[in-house]
Amino acid sequence: MSGKLFVISGPSGAGKNTVLNRVITLRDRVRYSVSATSRPIRPGEIDGKNYYFVSREDFEKLIAQDALLEHAEYVGNYYGTPIEPIRRSLAEGVDIVMDVEVVGALKIKKRMPEAVLVFLTAPSLQEIRRRLESRGDVSEEKMTERLARARWEYEQAYQYEYLVINDDVDRAAAELMAIMSAEKSKMMDRFHLLKEELSCFTPQCPNC
Ligand code: 5GP
Repeated sequence: MSGKLFVISGPSGAGKNTVLNRVITLRDRVRYSVSATSRPIRPGEIDGKNYYFVSREDFEKLIAQDALLEHAEYVGNYYGTPIEPIRRSLAEGVDIVMDVEVVGALKIKKRMPEAVLVFLTAPSLQEIRRRLESRGDVSEEKMTERLARARWEYEQAYQYEYLVINDDVDRAAAELMAIMSAEKSKMMDRFHLLKEELSCFTPQCPNC
């Protein structure tokens, strides 16, 4: 059975990374899609793990080569999803979780309608501001931009299939994993299992 794509969006400061890390640690056969970005690396981030950090020029080459499933500009920087690792994982039957802002997520849904869209956010916009401030690396101007963007993202959230409120990392991760399990149990995706059984379900079969 091929893997499933879970696209997680939500404002910067919602705690998506922490929740996704928890899910990847706890759940089998799931990989995180590492995006490419032209934004500068932050302290503590690792190239190739958190993002592939590239120049704007190199990012534009990736666009020209059609190497991205989607891309979007967010607060002045490019972000995009390399397509090849996704193809490979899905073919291997490994699920993918990805952290993509709203414009990119909706592009993915158009291109791959079977992708599952989950909006994950903090309990309030005040909490998002507090989390961004505690990072200490976001200027007041960028903060205003990110909060305005968060408001706009809330307005788009009705286009998502699920909403997870990150009031507690363990609880939010458990909820996301429950969504993943439910999506993977859908009859449409599993009917082949019954069909295999039916093909064997004959009076001649010694096991049936
Ligand atoms: P940050 O700079 O805080 O790491 O990420 C900023 C925003 O970029 C987040 O909302 C995140 O979801 C989004 N983002 C990260 N990777 C991608 C990507 O590959 N494509 C798109 N469209 N957005 C992304």
